[in-house]
Amino acid sequence: MERHEVLIVGGGNAGISLAARLLRDGVRDVAVVAPQPVHRYKPLLNYVGAGEATMADLERPMADVVPDGCTWVRDAVEAVDPAAMTVRTRGGRTLHCATLVLCPGLVEDWEATPGLLQAYADGWAASTYVPGSTPQVWPRLSSLREGSVVFTVPPEPASCAPTALKPLLMACDHWRRSGVLPDLDVRLVLPAGTATSLPEADRVLEEAFDDYGVEVLREARIERVDWDVHALEVTSRTGRRVLEDVVFAHAVPHYRAPVWIADAGLAVDASPGLVDVDPQTLRSRRHESIWAIGDAADLATRPSGGGLRKQVSVLSKNMSAAAKGKPMRHYDGYTVMPITVSRRKLMLNEVDRDGAASPSVPFVNPFKPHRWAWLFDRYGLPQVYWHRILRGRV
Ligand SMILES: Cc1cc2nc3c(=O)[nH]c(=O)nc-3n(C[C@H](O)[C@H](O)[C@H](O)COP(=O)(O)OP(=O)(O)OC[C@H]3O[C@@H](n4cnc5c(N)ncnc54)[C@H](O)[C@@H]3O)c2cc1C
Repeated sequence: MERHEVLIVGGGNAGISLAARLLRDGVRDVAVVAPQPVHRYKPLLNYVGAGEATMADLERPMADVVPDGCTWVRDAVEAVDPAAMTVRTRGGRTLHCATLVLCPGLVEDWEATPGLLQAYADGWAASTYVPGSTPQVWPRLSSLREGSVVFTVPPEPASCAPTALKPLLMACDHWRRSGVLPDLDVRLVLPAGTATSLPEADRVLEEAFDDYGVEVLREARIERVDWDVHALEVTSRTGRRVLEDVVFAHAVPHYRAPVWIADAGLAVDASPGLVDVDPQTLRSRRHESIWAIGDAADLATRPSGGGLRKQVSVLSKNMSAAAKGKPMRHYDGYTVMPITVSRRKLMLNEVDRDGAASPSVPFVNPFKPHRWAWLFDRYGLPQVYWHRILRGRV
């Protein structure tokens, strides 16, 4: 049977940056199980959906991002046996490890919104969250001249959900500049009463929605999609409503964790089935040699790539502290929700677990939109990601 000192499930932001960090810290045998041939820097997907980036800007071959010295098992995990400390893969392999880290991210729950998958297939729905459909988003949005267009923010758990507002607000700015905004009925389906539940950020966003004439449906969700007639059935705070003749829907699917986590008895619940960890130490509450970070872990904060910078650092230190019986560090729930309010202005929305401002640059108000923040998010952070974060240097 194949054995590894540390086995990481998932080769996304969490898995690759953790593998690199552990190797830097001197762990000798690290393996990553990751099925996909391509690694994506997901935050740029929203810029593809706004015509500000291409898929080539955010994709790299997986082989190029797996750190030197790390074993890449190109396969998908199908089952975990926590008692035996083994995982079984789709390809029929059984891998044994001393320490297991789960970071497989979230999977789309298409069944939560009947008809949505068909609307994607039909081409009138697409989103930055579904990479196969992302290249269609900007050509569709930028060619709209009139009619009804609908955007959604996915309910949690979802990957940095409020960033789904980026394509909406950048498109509104574009439509206004091209003079077609008054001829469009723009609607936003929000899962909660406000966009972020951060009062300072919400104040700025509500002004932007008002200014662009976006109708906001609150505490709302798309119950089903009549894909053949382009209609969305939405329930909201004000009741049930059918949005007819939708020309384009930037409708993000709902998400859940992979089912094999709950099947192994490692999840908080059956659905959405996030890994049950201590949100401060990142260690499983059910098995002391199992840990989890990233979108699939229940960390009592909004999942984000920015949050992973801190999670990776805390986890690498805690794995070593646990082995030596030393006290563990705590993750403060730091997260970030960068949102564009126009084509060239962005607010970072960096907060801790309690929603208090937690700026990376001291004295900068993270709820104030800035042009430099937009440039940093679009051009600076991708460089930091490829050259520092994925190499375990942050
Ligand atoms: C459209 C979009 C915009 C975003 N914008 C921002 C932003 O502006 N700022 C920010 O900080 N964050 C942003 N995020 C969030 C950020 O990208 C995620 O929080 C981060 O990618 C989570 O990393 P992860 O490794 O946990 O999950 P992922 O990046 O999803 O990686 C999980 C990996 O595990 C693999 N996997 C899945 N199942 C298995 C299995 N069974 N076996 C083995 N491997 C498996 C998957 O193939 C995937 O590669 C955005 C996310 C999206 C989708």
